[in-house]
Amino acid sequence: MHLFGLIGQPLTHSFSKRYFTEKFEQLGLTDYRYELFPLASINELPALLQANPSLQGLNVTIPYKKQVLPFLSASFLPEGLNACNCIRIRDGKTEGYNTDVIGFEKSLVPLLKPHHTRAIVLGSGGAAEAVLYVLDKLGIDHLTVSRKASGNKIINYNYLSNELINSSTLIINTTPLGMFPLEDSLPPIPYKLLTDKHLLYDLIYNPAKTAFLRLGEEKGASIKNGEEMLIIQAEESWKIWNA
Ligand code: NAP
Repeated sequence: MHLFGLIGQPLTHSFSKRYFTEKFEQLGLTDYRYELFPLASINELPALLQANPSLQGLNVTIPYKKQVLPFLSASFLPEGLNACNCIRIRDGKTEGYNTDVIGFEKSLVPLLKPHHTRAIVLGSGGAAEAVLYVLDKLGIDHLTVSRKASGNKIINYNYLSNELINSSTLIINTTPLGMFPLEDSLPPIPYKLLTDKHLLYDLIYNPAKTAFLRLGEEKGASIKNGEEMLIIQAEESWKIWNA
């Protein structure tokens, strides 16, 4: 049996099990399985690997993308990126990769206009790491907005000024605010200042249109949800597991 799966907590919102189960069916891979492995703590990972010797690959989701790093036998993460969302398991060894980077980059680039030179990134978790990495690579200046300020690159929501919203026409939500089942929640930014120059990108894919995207759209902003990123990162994981 060839076993793959997803670690995280909670996993009720997961798309991956359905996606890979359908893929295995389409490819006629009858002895392939993709299972959900909710872990109460990342410290449970070694026991999970020991209990499932047929595991060949794992995806990593909220909240373990950073916490999983000390558990990797080898890292194939891009230089300076401290988040792993894909693990290949070979001979009991765990190899860490990040496929969110390519998923975010490929889904963002076709939407960029020349005026998207400054970005605001909401949240500072594992997915934000991949987003910041891509923004750096594309030469887009960025500021992170967090519940806890730190240094001059991470400010608190209370410090989001009119000037910052006006000049940062790319706004990316990497928080779980608005994700099923908390669809009424949304990042606390001044939505009334958004314009048709803004591009709002939400990493959330369920629901397809979060309150964040809906309010942006009402102000004429362009919007993008996380579905395409999700599909690209899943396909990249599949390539890595089969390499
Ligand atoms: P994570 O590591 O837990 O980070 C989420 C960040 O959001 C936290 O670090 C926190 O940042 C902020 N946050 C959490 N709860 C909040 C709250 N109640 N109010 C305000 N801010 C809050 O999670 P993640 O792995 O980065 O995932 C984040 C989201 O991206 C999830 O919805 C996930 O499904 C989605 N995602 C989508 C894709 C895709 O392919 N489309 C890929 C990866 C992730 P601060 O502490 O700085 O405030």
